[in-house]
Amino acid sequence: MASVSIGNLNSAVRDVADFPKPGIVFKDITPLLQDGALFKAAVDRIAGPFQRKNITHVVSMESRGFIFGSPVAYLLNAGYVPIRKKGKLPHKTLAHTYNLEYGTDTLEIHADALDASSRVLIIDDVLATGGTANATCKLVENLKAKVAGLGFLIELEFLHGREKLRGYTVSSVLRY
Ligand code: AMP
Repeated sequence: MASVSIGNLNSAVRDVADFPKPGIVFKDITPLLQDGALFKAAVDRIAGPFQRKNITHVVSMESRGFIFGSPVAYLLNAGYVPIRKKGKLPHKTLAHTYNLEYGTDTLEIHADALDASSRVLIIDDVLATGGTANATCKLVENLKAKVAGLGFLIELEFLHGREKLRGYTVSSVLRY
C-alpha cells in the first residue's frame, strides 16, 4: 500500500466558507474520515509523537474530539476519558466554565476518571483559539493528573491557540 503523505491528508480537508456563521472558514474533515487509508494515517500521525511517553489516558472533547481520541488511546494502550458539555455525563462530575467570543461554555469530566498517577494526552481535531483545549487542561489538572501533551490533526496558526497552551507540549499534523 502506498504511504500517505501530508499532502494527501491536506487535500482531504475541505474548506467550507461561512459555516457555521458568516466569516468562518470551517475545516471539514469528513472527506478524510471517509477514506480508510487517510483516516488510519491521520490517527497514526496524531499519536506518533506520544508513543513511548507513558501516556495512561487519552482525554478528548465532544464531539469531533471523540473521533480521533479513542483510536489514539487504542494505539497507545491507554484508557479513554470523554469530556462533555454540561449535563451529559451521568455520574459525579467536575465542571469548568470558560469564555467564548460571545458568552461562556461549560465542560465536564467524571470526577473519578483520573488521579495523581495519570499522565494524560489531550486530543482534538482542530486547535483554533485554544479556549477548549485550555479548559480541558484545567479539568485534567483539577483532578490532580498531569497533562503530558496535546495533539491535534489541524492547527489554525493564525488564531494563536498555542499561546493559550504555553508550557505544554503541543503537536499538530496539518497547519494553516
Ligand atoms: P477553540 O476553542 O477556538 O480552539 O476551538 C475549539 C473547537 O472548535 C475545536 O474543537 C474545533 O473542533 C472547533 N473549530 C474551531 N474553529 C474551527 C474551524 N475553522 N473549522 C473546524 N472546526 C473548528
